[in-house]
Amino acid sequence: MKKEFVQEITGMNDDFAQWYTDVVTKAELVDYSSVRGSMIIRPYGYALWENIKSELDKRIKETGHENVYMPLFIPESLLQKEKDHIEGFAPEVAWVTHGGDEKLTERLCVRPTSEVLFGEHFKNIIHSYRDLPKLYNQWANVVRWEKTTRPFLRTLEFLWQEGHTCHETDEDAHEETVKMLKVYAEICEKVLAIPVIMGQKTEKEKFAGAKYTYTIESLMHDGKALQSGTSHHLGDGFAKAFGIQFLDREGKQQYVQQTSWGFTTRIIGAMIMVHGDDRGLVVPPMVAPTQLMIVPIAQHKEGVLDYAYDLKNRLSKSIRVGIDASDKKPGWKFNEYEMKGIPLRLEVGPRDIEQGQVILARRDTGEKITVPVEGIEEKVRSILLDIQESLLQKAKDHREEKTSIAQNLLEFKETITQHAGFIKAMWCGDQACEDQIKEETGATSRCMPFEQEKVGESCVCCGKEAEQLVYWAKAY
Ligand code: AMP
Ligand code: ZN
Repeated sequence: MKKEFVQEITGMNDDFAQWYTDVVTKAELVDYSSVRGSMIIRPYGYALWENIKSELDKRIKETGHENVYMPLFIPESLLQKEKDHIEGFAPEVAWVTHGGDEKLTERLCVRPTSEVLFGEHFKNIIHSYRDLPKLYNQWANVVRWEKTTRPFLRTLEFLWQEGHTCHETDEDAHEETVKMLKVYAEICEKVLAIPVIMGQKTEKEKFAGAKYTYTIESLMHDGKALQSGTSHHLGDGFAKAFGIQFLDREGKQQYVQQTSWGFTTRIIGAMIMVHGDDRGLVVPPMVAPTQLMIVPIAQHKEGVLDYAYDLKNRLSKSIRVGIDASDKKPGWKFNEYEMKGIPLRLEVGPRDIEQGQVILARRDTGEKITVPVEGIEEKVRSILLDIQESLLQKAKDHREEKTSIAQNLLEFKETITQHAGFIKAMWCGDQACEDQIKEETGATSRCMPFEQEKVGESCVCCGKEAEQLVYWAKAY
């Protein structure tokens, strides 16, 4: 029975893409909808998002931001105001042309991001340095008409938060950009157990309309990279386009300095691809909707269910607990909750009750231990903590294993074909080299890491003197 069930999921190493599709559908995270690239987020998937959202929202508020809500539609003329921005987003924008039967006099775009909506609003509400900083965030859905899509990782419509802030000085905006990138990094590492590289995007890869873009990059199980969150210093480009000015402390008119930053449902895809295995999902305890699942054994025997429910009540005081008292076989339940990635399973049957013990099974290692029921709360809590830490460590080790150094293009090509993962290599800063690397190897520049090292003297592509270390990889 166990075998049959597990076979339903394609092996990770047989076909990673199919494994991913199997996991997201069979673990009941999503269902496909009738619009290509749009997904239905099912209760289990949405509960995951709610937990991530609540951890991030808490930190956004702790750093002084307020939540607001902007409209879904952007008039075409408004979107046109900032040239680089519209150029970057035009190919991905969905348009509304009719209201009922009537053709609109001006097309409305469905927001792909809300810089221009905030721009128009900021112009109205900011007048003096006393109105600054403005630290806003919104939780919303956005639409980008992507060509290739995959549940969570890249969808036409996705859920996210977008921060939008205005500051007096360039330096203040810079600090904000870094601060929020670090918040994202903390969510990834502490909450989702996903290690990230923090760095700056190259000119080619930066956000349309930004002065510069900071990013966190993570590495999936198959050695492909994923841009997992971005934080942009917008400079005064939007401020000039929208006329967002304030009277400074000397009584002079100045343009505000802005930032924006976004984190999306994509991160659920990262969580799946970083921690999952051949048995299915592995969910880090901090975001797991159910952290421990109780499976009663021989539950028809007198007293077993009462005992199990009693345990549930006890444990519910400190963690998120589920119980499956349905009439399905224990073996079925074990497989089901393993596939759903529930961090811990607790088994309890008549013999355990007699001996004052229960069995705990870890999802991450498969390890099963028998523990006394006395002090179970403490034991469970410490195992959950250990799972959270082990997952991060395992992901770090995996990334380490899949990170190589290349000195020239030949080495680069050989490495990337034999050993998918990050390549650390020096770069001269010329976009022509970046383009050539992409063309010849399929790898893109992921970021210029904040933590720079000198792994060589010369550009991996042209051989000219190079100062900048870049992380490269094939990416989702
Ligand atoms: P951006 O506003 O372009 O900087 O996007 C912010 C973040 O959204 C990126 O760093 C990605 O992690 C994520 N993202 C971009 N496009 C999509 C998409 N189609 N589906 C899900 N997440 C996305
Ligand atoms: Zn070069």
